[in-house]
Amino acid sequence: MDPLYLTIDIDWAPDFMIQGMADVLVEYGMRATWFVTHDTPLLGDLSAEPLFELGIHPNIAASSTQGGDEREIFGRLMELVPDAVCVRTHGNVQSTNLTIRMSRDYKMRVDASYFLPREPVKPHYVRWVETEILRVPYDWEDAYEASQSDSEWSLDEGHLAKPGMHVINFHPVHWYLNTQDYRTYARAKDLGPVQAWTPGLIADLIAAGQGPREFLTRLSIDGATRSRKLCDLLVTSGV
Ligand SMILES: [Zn+2]
Repeated sequence: MDPLYLTIDIDWAPDFMIQGMADVLVEYGMRATWFVTHDTPLLGDLSAEPLFELGIHPNIAASSTQGGDEREIFGRLMELVPDAVCVRTHGNVQSTNLTIRMSRDYKMRVDASYFLPREPVKPHYVRWVETEILRVPYDWEDAYEASQSDSEWSLDEGHLAKPGMHVINFHPVHWYLNTQDYRTYARAKDLGPVQAWTPGLIADLIAAGQGPREFLTRLSIDGATRSRKLCDLLVTSGV
């Protein structure tokens, strides 16, 4: 079976969402790479879980709450996740020079900042003078599918049923709300910053039926045995 890589952009989600997702993954033995945005008491448990790997999710936009400039942002995230070798920039911000700095200055070894929706994934090395980073695009994302008129929430049909490796990306907030229509989520944002949400505040917004929440459970049940962490690619990619 082709390998399945589950990634999770934490995106400042409250702990009850992160914990809920982690519980599902551990229950079914599903491996995952979590991209960390902020400090939380859960980081200790997540990093201690053998199924999981922690990477970093820097927001290098001018409005970032993670630090005053790129170097400070990466530095603070590396303090939170000292062993991180995988990165995905928030908003998939990227440039040639950033790629070089991520490899040379911040010692990242895997860059998963490229989204190729419903396209084949082919990891590849990007090498400059004395720098090298394995770029691993991702081909499925919860928010993207919630924005489509033909949303695909299945391993058995559509893009994810095609042969080849797949790199899937979830966000805890979309998992928790089971965001099946992105317009619903856009309205939920009126409730204020997601960090301040409580289970009671958003209880009525959880969608029933097909969507990220029920798909993650089916994905974990059917995909756990072929699930991998992104860092495994450094050993197995052979590229
Ligand atoms: Zn993000």
